[in-house]
Amino acid sequence: MEEKGTSKPVRLVGVGASEGAVVGPAFVYAAGKLEPERESISEGEVEDELERFREAIEAVAEKLSETRDRLEESAGEEEAAIFDAHVELARDPELSSGVEGHVRDLMSPEAAVLAVGEEYAALFAGMDDEYMAARADDVRDVASQIAAELMGRGAEGLEALEIPSVILARSLAPSDTARIPRGMALGFVTAEGSKTSHVSIMARSMEIPAVVGVGAHLQEAFDAETVAVDGGEGYAVVNPDTDTVAKFERKQEAMAEEQAALEEFKHVEARTRDGDRVEVSANLGSADEAEDALSWGAEGVGLFRTEFLFMEREELPSEDEQYEAYRKVAEAFGERPVIVRTLDVGGDKDLPGVDQPEEENPFLGWRGIRMSLETPELFKPQLRAILRAGVNGNLKIMFPMVAEVEELRKAREILDQCREELRSEGAEVGPVEVGVMIETPAAAICAADLAREAAFFSVGTNDLVQYTLAADRGNERLRNLHRADHPAVLKLIGETCETAREAGIWVGVCGEAAGEPDLIPKLVELGVTELSMSAPSIPQAKKAVSEL
Ligand code: PEP
Ligand code: MG
Repeated sequence: MEEKGTSKPVRLVGVGASEGAVVGPAFVYAAGKLEPERESISEGEVEDELERFREAIEAVAEKLSETRDRLEESAGEEEAAIFDAHVELARDPELSSGVEGHVRDLMSPEAAVLAVGEEYAALFAGMDDEYMAARADDVRDVASQIAAELMGRGAEGLEALEIPSVILARSLAPSDTARIPRGMALGFVTAEGSKTSHVSIMARSMEIPAVVGVGAHLQEAFDAETVAVDGGEGYAVVNPDTDTVAKFERKQEAMAEEQAALEEFKHVEARTRDGDRVEVSANLGSADEAEDALSWGAEGVGLFRTEFLFMEREELPSEDEQYEAYRKVAEAFGERPVIVRTLDVGGDKDLPGVDQPEEENPFLGWRGIRMSLETPELFKPQLRAILRAGVNGNLKIMFPMVAEVEELRKAREILDQCREELRSEGAEVGPVEVGVMIETPAAAICAADLAREAAFFSVGTNDLVQYTLAADRGNERLRNLHRADHPAVLKLIGETCETAREAGIWVGVCGEAAGEPDLIPKLVELGVTELSMSAPSIPQAKKAVSEL
């Protein structure tokens, strides 16, 4: 076992992705791109290493079984069953014999289990059966856990986290963050990512501090015991000394005071000094966040990212389950608008249970509306669920990643079909307006065509920035290019607003730029009349609007 913990503080500098300061125990999430510490072993080590490998399998299988039992109590038999499959995978005789063969050929067991796991995962991924294909990630996960155990890191799956911790990882996909038990993540520190990566968005909606894009220096934190995270300034201190801990405590107090000062803005209607109304709304990732968003003063929901409903689980939610989620948010907000965005899977968001192709450039790939139009078995139940839930409040639909008007027309046709089908089934249907996200330069440039067929636009600056500046939103090296105030981006937003004004429709912004007090004056000046953001940013945004 590697000795854990050095007392020397190490400072990691990255991008402040979610405000807040916290000090807590470190949890190194080593799954995913785990690298073996040693590639090879000597002839004399073979028997000992084989023994260590068998012990590691048992240790991992036991931990997985414990998680299974705990989940059975807290969440039920169905959720727990996922872990039965993981235990089986850990003890799979073919996996073991594959690894043992490599170890006898003098490969280190950690390198061998990662290599065999990858071979297996590729086999699964290539299967026609959707369910089996989705098991590829499970195999990678289990193989990584065995490798981590062999390297003394003892990293377990995120779902097994039992102590509230700061999670350190190379990267965290939405499917990773969705697996963290509620309340167990105190903060995130990741090597990769930018302010608009989904890990940052998730951190903001979970209301925990995050520093992303610290780069390769993250490795210096792999033996950390405690980590302090400042998600506002964008740095973390590994193994902080007592002075640093005291400084963080003072920071927490100061932030609490700042929040208290913003209290008076929470529940006011946002207006400029001239009395112009700017709606300040919340971005939601799940129906459970609705009440919290209201308590921060949300005047509506400008973006309900529905893909997270699909990610929190192994199988796809049914139409009725989706209906329940949309109804819950619609009812919570009453007459206030709730914009439900249809599935935006692809890019960095995988969907368990859906056969997504391996792509060279996922952000330029089969994403958002492109996928929905080609998978009516996913798209139609979602549209039906939204239409049905529309009876219970003021729901609107919004389509993501639209690049040409034909996509919008096809989506609207399918929506009309769903409406007709529901009516002929005797179901009640709500008057749901249709809007479009402006997040590709093509949509901004051709906004006039889209405006003829849409009731509103919502600018997704996160994607609009990455596509306009050709700068992957997850690439920390390009952080200087991740700017919604770049002249090219502002020009596209300005032109979109101008076109919308001529067509008589309104424009909102639901990308992260909407919650940045420095950008709000510019967005409002360009003609944006709705700003949607992670809920804790709402009071500050209302204050910024009131000062215009
Ligand atoms: C955006 O691209 O700005 C947006 C709001 O959508 P997402 O971040 O989910 O891609
Ligand atoms: Mg987007």
